[in-house]
Amino acid sequence: MEQITIQKTETAREKPDQANLAFGKHFTDHMFIMDYTEGRGWHDPRIIPYGPLSFDPSTAVLHYGQATFEGLKAYKTREGNIQLFRPYANMHRMNISNDRICIPQIDEEFCVNALKELVLIDQDWIPEAEGTSLYLRPFVIATEAQLGVHPSRTYKFIIIMSPVGAYYPQGINPVSIYVEQNYVRTVKGGTGFAKTAGNYASSLKSQEEAEKKGFTQVLWLDGVEKKYIEEVGTMNVFFKIKGEIVTPALDGGSILAGITRDSTIQLLKHWGMPVNERKITIEELFTAEARGEMEEAFGTGTAAVISPIGELVYGGRKMIINDNKIGAVAQRLYDAITGIQNGSIADPFDWITRVK
Ligand SMILES: *Cc1c(COP(=O)(O)O)cnc(C)c1O
Repeated sequence: MEQITIQKTETAREKPDQANLAFGKHFTDHMFIMDYTEGRGWHDPRIIPYGPLSFDPSTAVLHYGQATFEGLKAYKTREGNIQLFRPYANMHRMNISNDRICIPQIDEEFCVNALKELVLIDQDWIPEAEGTSLYLRPFVIATEAQLGVHPSRTYKFIIIMSPVGAYYPQGINPVSIYVEQNYVRTVKGGTGFAKTAGNYASSLKSQEEAEKKGFTQVLWLDGVEKKYIEEVGTMNVFFKIKGEIVTPALDGGSILAGITRDSTIQLLKHWGMPVNERKITIEELFTAEARGEMEEAFGTGTAAVISPIGELVYGGRKMIINDNKIGAVAQRLYDAITGIQNGSIADPFDWITRVK
């Protein structure tokens, strides 16, 4: 692949107040773009000033949703180093997503380098307060201007970046979860394992209705029998039942293989607490709760890292987990993962990629 060309901005964007960073509202000075053309592959990798793109109204992605994305973060350590958490895993997963919706493969190594170069150029945008980071959003869109239903012959791979505030500025509060019984996120054979724009579009209605009822997130059941636990919103989910940590197995193809999920499993194994990846029914959770065996529940994902579940409502039934407080396992995982990410504790797993 060619060298990345760099065109620096002449008008620096105004930086947001570090104390009031929301999620995904402010963007840095630059972005990375490269193009794909059938027969030629990926070409013209470049870093240019952040700004609007212009498209023909017939552009494929606007009609048929051929789009994948990733999400990861850059952190500034106390020593002033800059580091990424498992970026190769993100770029690898993007290729799994791309394959599912007929987007050509990216060069994973090259794209990690693009992430590093972009972060380096906009390093002044990485917030420094405890719990903050720079969110990186690589995505691919189909750009061919035509309405025929077939895979686009041209694409853009783009990276934009946004400073994000601490997810838990007031300490970690458990969330209330509504078990979704009408809508489904995906089914076996669908796109559930891929990080596609369309999966998110189809989840909005359920999320909106749950929010109106006062819940933070929905818990998705499998799309066929509506019996097995899949995910919580856009997080993977873990339970501690009578001392055993369990999480839904990925083999059905309808669950997104979270990198935080994988990190959680590796850490727990390292601590001598193996995770049992298996099918879990919603009934099993209520049975465990009735027996006093439901000890912890939490979601895992890049945004929140660990999100404890305090309350779960399924039809007319409701359970409160661990007195609506964060459990010991969730807290230990949160401390370990965020500590490795921000460089305050050692990384025995080789998860960190140094930018500087
Ligand atoms: C991105 C995502 C996750 C979490 O993945 P991480 O790599 O841990 O951030 C979980 N479920 C869905 C549906 C997702 O899109």
